[in-house]
Amino acid sequence: MLYCPKCHILSDKACPICGSESLREPEEKDWVYVRTEKPGEEPSASALFQEKGIPVLREGQETPGAAVKILIPFARVAEASALLEEYPEKEKLSPGKKAFWKALSVVLFLLLIALTVYATDFVAGWFRSLLS
Ligand SMILES: [Zn+2]
Repeated sequence: MLYCPKCHILSDKACPICGSESLREPEEKDWVYVRTEKPGEEPSASALFQEKGIPVLREGQETPGAAVKILIPFARVAEASALLEEYPEKEKLSPGKKAFWKALSVVLFLLLIALTVYATDFVAGWFRSLLS
């Protein structure tokens, strides 16, 4: 894993942002870009990191209402990416899960109606065959 000191990006080969190939080994204190945060974004990655005691550098905060680049020390990158994996997923999954259960309950309900109709027909037909 290499580090572009200009873009604060970790990369295996050339920097994906500036294309530079003169990358160096990252040092623990190097600031690494994690994500861009829009104002009012929830959950806020930087708040999450600060809560866990990870130092956060916010680039571009001077402009009000602008998106802010979140940078953290290289030493904490693994910890931070684990946190990020945990969090946005919770936010993303819940509406999807709700939609899934809603769709499933509709299907089950229709199936139940179909079964009831089918069973009624079957029983009615059976009675008719007994009476004839
Ligand atoms: Zn670069």
